[in-house]
Formats: sequence, structure tokens, C-alpha cells
Amino acid sequence: FITGKSKVTELAHSVWRSLVQKGDAVVDATCGNGHDTLALLKMVANGSGRGCVYGMDIQQSAIENTSLLLKESVNEDERELVKLFLVCHSKMETAIPKDTPIRLIVFNLGYLPGGDKTIITTSTTTLMALQAASHILHSEGLISMVVYVGHPGGREELQTVESFASSLPTESWVTCKFEVSNRPTGPVLVLIFKK
Ligand code: SAM
Repeated sequence: FITGKSKVTELAHSVWRSLVQKGDAVVDATCGNGHDTLALLKMVANGSGRGCVYGMDIQQSAIENTSLLLKESVNEDERELVKLFLVCHSKMETAIPKDTPIRLIVFNLGYLPGGDKTIITTSTTTLMALQAASHILHSEGLISMVVYVGHPGGREELQTVESFASSLPTESWVTCKFEVSNRPTGPVLVLIFKK
């Protein structure tokens, strides 16, 4: 039933939905066009001003696209639950208030669809972002990564993510991945759970 890129994203969303509760604080580490940010907002918004989505991207156009999508899709009260930052996700600790209990941190790697394909996530900053994410994630939280391997550097980035995930101690972490066996260039979903 999984036939393409969007389906892996849907699978990721259904994993998030099974974990995230109304009122949670979550992070979208690659806002892009805002689809994941919006999906996360719907999961955390509880109508009483609680819940928060911290979103970040290194491109002004991505922050603008995300703001626009939110404006078209939700009311002002809900939009206020989203805090957007023009910052590299390796610096996520500078954007998120210290000691915030973060339930979920999501990455959708690669380039901005419809944007400049040369502005892309890289192994070096992705690894730094994973290290930061593992520090700020609350226990019983999840880091979710959709990784694309069809572009130059994508396969190396997957290797970096996998080697980070497999290096985590089993006492505190459970990591797994989903890939489509007969579609070797399809996106891979890597899930990193903190016990
Ligand atoms: N989640 C998005 C959505 O729902 O539309 C799609 C994300 S897109 C595949 C990847 C995004 O990562 C791009 O917008 C790109 O600008 C951003 N990006 C690349 N390097 C980054 C970095 N170091 N820190 C934060 N964002 C980065």
C-alpha cells in the first residue's frame, strides 16, 4: 500500500498521531511549505491556549510559506501556538525555551519542494541537529526523520542518520526504520524513541 513519497509521510503522520497528545510541545525541524507544521498543530491544539509547535527552517521563503499555509488553514488563536524561527536546526536549543518537555521532533530532510534545490539538508548539520534533538527530547518522546536518498548526498545523509540511531544505548532508546524493499530510491522513515 505504500507506493510513493507522500505515503511515507502519511505513515510518519500516523505514528505522530499515536503519540502526541493535546497540549504537547513539539518541534518541526524543517518547516518547508508548512504541511508537517500544520499537521502537528492540529495534533497539539486543545482550544485552551496550550500546546506548542516550534518550527524552524534556514530559508525565509519556507518560513513565509508556512505562515501563509497556517493563515489559510487555522484561526488566529491556533496560529499563536506556532513559533517559527529562521535558524539552522542544529541550533534548535537556542530557539526552544530551556526545560520545555518536548514530545516529538520531526525532520523531513532534503530541499524545499518548488524551491531552490541547492539549499538542502546536509549530513554535518543533520548530525548536529540529531544530537541537539536527543538532548531536549522528553522521555517517552520521539524523533521522526523522513530521509530522501534519490539526490546527491542523500544516501550519505541516511548513513549518518542510521549510524547515529544505531549508536544510541538500548537502555534509553529504541530505534527502527521503515523502507520500501522493492523501491530502493524511495524515502526512508527513521524513528528514534526515548524510553
Ligand atoms: N516539512 C516540509 C513540509 O511539510 O512542507 C518539507 C521540508 S523540505 C523537504 C526540507 C526543508 O529543510 C527545506 O525547506 C529546507 O530549507 C530545510 N532545511 C535545509 N537545511 C536546513 C537546516 N540546516 N535547518 C533547518 N532547515 C533546513
